[in-house]
Amino acid sequence: MRSFVYDQPATRVIFGTGLLDRLQEEVKRLGAHRVIVLSTPEQRSDAEQAACRLGDMAAGIYAEAVMHVPIETALAARDVAKQLDADCYVAIGGGSTIGLGKAIALETGMPIIAVPTTFAGSEMTPIYGLTEGGIKKTGRDRRVLPRTVLYDPALTLTLPAKIAGPSGMNAIAHCVEGLYAQDANPIMTLLAAEGIRALARSLPIVVKEAANLEARSDALYGAWLAGTVLGNVGMAIHHKLCHTLGGTFNLPHAETHTVVLPHAMEFNREAAPEAMRIAADALGVRDAAQGIYDLAARIGAPLALKDIGMPADGLDRASKLATENPYYNPRPVEYSGVRQLLENAYHGKRPA
Ligand code: NAD
Repeated sequence: MRSFVYDQPATRVIFGTGLLDRLQEEVKRLGAHRVIVLSTPEQRSDAEQAACRLGDMAAGIYAEAVMHVPIETALAARDVAKQLDADCYVAIGGGSTIGLGKAIALETGMPIIAVPTTFAGSEMTPIYGLTEGGIKKTGRDRRVLPRTVLYDPALTLTLPAKIAGPSGMNAIAHCVEGLYAQDANPIMTLLAAEGIRALARSLPIVVKEAANLEARSDALYGAWLAGTVLGNVGMAIHHKLCHTLGGTFNLPHAETHTVVLPHAMEFNREAAPEAMRIAADALGVRDAAQGIYDLAARIGAPLALKDIGMPADGLDRASKLATENPYYNPRPVEYSGVRQLLENAYHGKRPA
């Protein structure tokens, strides 16, 4: 008998094009009146478009979101919200911008409308991160889960292939680890398999045909499912390693996930055969770890840690850090296995 808990909080999810035109209606639905629009500095024009559609409801724009949500940025954004008497946020952008919205909601409980423009899946999770004194802490809190998510593929048209591909691979990593999560449940397993299928078929088109809306919509569909999986079940060695590498060696988030995933899967291959079978089926290949590596190569994403800023003399330390606190993984996490995993990832070796 399989026992499990299924306890999913609801988010209103809307797919379509021209969705910024719905913003006023969606804000009213939440009973809010004064909105701050969040973005990165690079996406200020997206924030301006959103503010323009909000008309009188737009209280202001805060276009200072950066990677990993520094506490100073979160505090400044909370202050701006207070000054402007805002009661709702629209976060338009990728995981960094949505992460800033979550940091504000964590303290204020204000509702977030997320408009994701990458495929990372953060909009569907109650997971937040905050970086203080160089250390990123993450936690789970239902207050930070966006109330409404607007998936509009037209807003991803400006996303360059080199960001789009790895952000989609990041989403696939949520699905893969969801398949062998300690608290896996049958619904999340279905979503994880479908998420891998949708992203594996759409990403090669997204990176080659910049204007293909259909493929972008399909990738957003995969991102939605992947984010839902990440938000509902626990992750294992892959996410732990990427968190360590990002935090300690300042490696880029999505690229790190892309490089490490095939090696984490090779590491877990024998210990999680059913998960690997489902992932391989979804990828349409015989071996899931090799299939993920080949997909990353096909979309022109980085394949080796040495190419994304990892120092060779950091591999011992990273292996030590990643094995320090015992945590769930289908295969016991011990130093020599993890060291080998990282060695393979460093050189970008195709899983055997
Ligand atoms: P990102 O949000 O950091 O964006 C990368 C860059 O792409 C930014 O400069 C951004 O402005 C730009 N960009 C985004 N969309 C664009 C578009 N459509 N057109 C042009 N430029 C665009 O990238 P990401 O991969 O989405 O997010 C990474 C961050 O999200 C990490 O900090 C990670 O920890 C976090 N994350 C959190 C969760 C969660 O559940 N909490 C899940 C996944 C990722």
